[in-house]
Amino acid sequence: MPRRPSPSAAHIPPRRGSLRRSHGILAVAAAVVLLAGCTAPAPGIDPGSEDAQGATETAAPLDFALAIHGGAGALPDDLSEERKQGYLDDLSKALQHGRDRLAEGAPSLDVVQEVVRILEDSPLFNAGKGAVFTHEGRNELDAAIMDGRDLNCGSVAGVTTIKNPVDLARAVMEESRHVFFTGAGAEQFAAEQGIETVEPEYFFVQSRYDSLQRALERESAAGAEDEKRGTVGAVALDRDGNLAAATSTGGLTNKRFGRVGDVPVIGAGTYANNATVAVSCTGIGEQFIRNNIAHDVSALVEYKGLSVEAAAQEAIGKLDPGDGGLIAVGRTGEIALIFNSASMLRGAADSNGRFEVAIWGSP
Ligand code: ASP
Repeated sequence: MPRRPSPSAAHIPPRRGSLRRSHGILAVAAAVVLLAGCTAPAPGIDPGSEDAQGATETAAPLDFALAIHGGAGALPDDLSEERKQGYLDDLSKALQHGRDRLAEGAPSLDVVQEVVRILEDSPLFNAGKGAVFTHEGRNELDAAIMDGRDLNCGSVAGVTTIKNPVDLARAVMEESRHVFFTGAGAEQFAAEQGIETVEPEYFFVQSRYDSLQRALERESAAGAEDEKRGTVGAVALDRDGNLAAATSTGGLTNKRFGRVGDVPVIGAGTYANNATVAVSCTGIGEQFIRNNIAHDVSALVEYKGLSVEAAAQEAIGKLDPGDGGLIAVGRTGEIALIFNSASMLRGAADSNGRFEVAIWGSP
């Protein structure tokens, strides 16, 4: 029996539809800008950012806004043209779908789920089809979704047969009285809900398997740590002023059996609250859990009055260089794309015609 949290549990700001639409006159003609970020890595730079120190949001509110990521990591800047284009094409496809859906008035909750599902189906990202391998050579997937209207959320961890873990996370949120399922219980719940399952072999992608072999070789040589790579996420503000976030991952290559990262931990890797911000993180999950990064961004906006950009910078600033990054969107549509790793596959779109995808730092 589905159970929704009581509305009093959340801060629900007034709907801003008419206010924001009155600013529609400021909208510029739609333009497609592909920012491949082809310069040397310049971590942490948001191509769309203006005032990283800004304490308040000053820009005119947007009708809708969407940010996506395909994972923070250390993609070499001499990546083959084919590989680079593959990332940019798949990010653009997901971003375009989400942008079009928000433009037609779809709820942010549906949009982040649909966008994450598209990225999960791509073998290029570390989620769904392209998930990385555990030390034992399996794929264990984590995902979460959160509704900024009422703080309702759903998470799954360690699933091995769910084609699109974000769909299961949504079912946990809406069709159970709980918020977090793991392993066998999650799989059983999926079966009851008619969620699509696949044989574990579905997740086999040769390049991911090769990454595991390299990690195992390094480990036996020097006790190396897990490799970081991938994850997908989306955050959105819809025309009704509602925020939502979703994140999905295979975790870290060579992770231990049973290890759970930040992605399904609400407040660590995923968070959304209409009063503040929607956030989706990517990077070394343990660090995001220790620092409660996604909720930290929200708290910095709420308690310190920071802009989304400044809050995201401050939160990521608590991590060690190379740990990862996050995407965030605030109540007025302000987008932040912040990372301290060499690369973060990412994209942003809004009702003012912004549409851009990028891999490394700002060109
Ligand atoms: N944050 C994910 C995890 O630790 C991995 C990633 O984003 O690449 O599971």
